[in-house]
Amino acid sequence: MTTTTPADYATADSNEIGASRRILSDTHEVFNQATPLENYNMFERDQALSEALVREGGGWGEPGVAALGETLGSAEWIERGFQANRSTPELFTHDRFGHRVDHVEYHPAYHDVMGLAVEHNIHASPWSDPKPGAHVVRMAKNYLYTQNEAGSACPLTMTFACVPAIRDTASVAAAWLPKIFDQRYDPTNAPLEQKTGATIGMAMTEKQGGTDVRANTTTAVPVAGRGPGEAYEIIGHKWFVSAPMSDAFLTLAQTDQGLSCFLLPRWRPDGTRNEFYVQRLKDKMGNRSNASSEVELRGAHAVLLGEEGRGVATIIEMVALTRYDCMIGSTALMRQAVAQVTHHIAQRSVMGANLIDQPLMQNVVADLCLEVEGALAMTARTARALDNEALNNQDSEAERLLTRFMTAVGKYWICKRATSHIGEAMECLGGGGYVEDSILPRLYREAPVNSIWEGSGNVQVLDVLRAMTKTPDVVDVYFDELETALGANTMYDAYVGALKAEFTHVEDFEYQGRHYVERLAKAMQAAQLVKAGNALVSDAFCSSRLGESRGLNYGNLASGTDCAAIIERARPNVG
Ligand SMILES: Cc1cc2nc3c(=O)[nH]c(=O)nc-3n(C[C@H](O)[C@H](O)[C@H](O)COP(=O)(O)OP(=O)(O)OC[C@H]3O[C@@H](n4cnc5c(N)ncnc54)[C@H](O)[C@@H]3O)c2cc1C
Repeated sequence: MTTTTPADYATADSNEIGASRRILSDTHEVFNQATPLENYNMFERDQALSEALVREGGGWGEPGVAALGETLGSAEWIERGFQANRSTPELFTHDRFGHRVDHVEYHPAYHDVMGLAVEHNIHASPWSDPKPGAHVVRMAKNYLYTQNEAGSACPLTMTFACVPAIRDTASVAAAWLPKIFDQRYDPTNAPLEQKTGATIGMAMTEKQGGTDVRANTTTAVPVAGRGPGEAYEIIGHKWFVSAPMSDAFLTLAQTDQGLSCFLLPRWRPDGTRNEFYVQRLKDKMGNRSNASSEVELRGAHAVLLGEEGRGVATIIEMVALTRYDCMIGSTALMRQAVAQVTHHIAQRSVMGANLIDQPLMQNVVADLCLEVEGALAMTARTARALDNEALNNQDSEAERLLTRFMTAVGKYWICKRATSHIGEAMECLGGGGYVEDSILPRLYREAPVNSIWEGSGNVQVLDVLRAMTKTPDVVDVYFDELETALGANTMYDAYVGALKAEFTHVEDFEYQGRHYVERLAKAMQAAQLVKAGNALVSDAFCSSRLGESRGLNYGNLASGTDCAAIIERARPNVG
């Protein structure tokens, strides 16, 4: 390559100046940059996921999960995830003639990704096509989907989670479930009869309290008769209503019998708009593709689900399932971060050596990989517990208790870990990791929301206490599960022994709850990894998480850990 110096430029004639300008503009060669991580099968290049799918009983779903992994890993669908977040939803309260419309407009890419998810039945498969392994297969699909576009996972989750609450009220179930189960996404704002498919949101939180929904001031009065499936009129407000273009919302309101749960559609039975007014959209830190709104209900039509005064009991199963989906969501965000990091460090050289070969970077990244391994193993086991619960056999009750406890423990721990995990992952990419067109800033902004909504961290810890107090058997079932992994790792065995002893005299839980729940979570993640049978992973996980603390940040794995092998297992190995 010839180099033009300033002296050459000064002495050149005009023709030569033209040529020199072209050469000068050719300032440098781009090298030592990683290739984009795209055009690969996100499922097939995820060894931990492939193993978990089979291990937990979803092996039959492999072709469908792999097909989705191929689509989501394409450059085209990755770009749709970016587009849906770059152009955030916009609220139009009125049309050009002044009619109230309460319309939220999304980028077309948002509808594309929603359409893909609904086509793959992420919103309903365990209910519309129940079979052993259905929850595990859905978990795997949701895990892949959320890595591309996490915001729209919110309405998908709410639609999935509403089904148990709806199906107990026969008239509502008959009208709504066929549309909810439909695999044709229909974003039009129209009465239910005119639509192919429907999505559902939830409206619980009010200004004066989100955790404490019993403080709700929104009121409901019966129009004629009262009881499940009857019509009520609702007056009040909701402070957070995500996906306000959903077709209906599970809504909490007070009757004279107490807090009750309603299905509140966007359209009234006579085909007119319901009295559901979107006041404004939240300007959120992350979760940008998803609209979250403030709503006023000015005599809105709704139908009662379950009994009056039993609103929390009716909606609680929906809440539990959304919490489980938060475990999937946070694990997915961490997986995407690890996929990006392992891909990057394999191609980036600093000071003459690839980062993937540099010991300190190996220690940090292997530690990040282990966090995903543990989170995924626990989440996949929770999915299987949901499947086992649905089998209605002699083990179902124990699996129901396990789900109950594991969801509270896992939601707290996994969602909390994600924020610091992704922050560390971002740093592994250096300055490029801080720039929007790497996906890391989007993952980082998304991470805290899973920890906040559907029961914030402390609320989850207190939920563990509530479960222990109301159904003490949850603790026995949890330890029974931990004991199935004994005998393969001495550190694990000792940890479980000590934890069990600690749980014979739990003290001051309301103050020390995080200490207890953290230990329960780490033990369950370790148990699932030990049972999965890959000692490379489980030994490193146990020695880094169950022994004496070696430091609070990632990158404190002990000497002798085979970091390179752990990283290689997680690396998508593309390009
Ligand atoms: C992006 C986004 C979308 C949302 N979408 C929806 C939606 O669609 N529908 C909906 O109904 N809600 C939605 N929410 C609301 C969300 O569920 C609530 O914000 C959440 O439940 C917390 O309620 P709050 O904001 O009132 O906080 P508070 O209830 O005031 O809690 C504040 C803090 O206090 C802690 N805390 C509470 N009680 C205790 C205690 N006893 N001891 C110790 N600490 C305690 C909590 O953990 C939390 O950290 C959304 C929130 C966000 C951020």
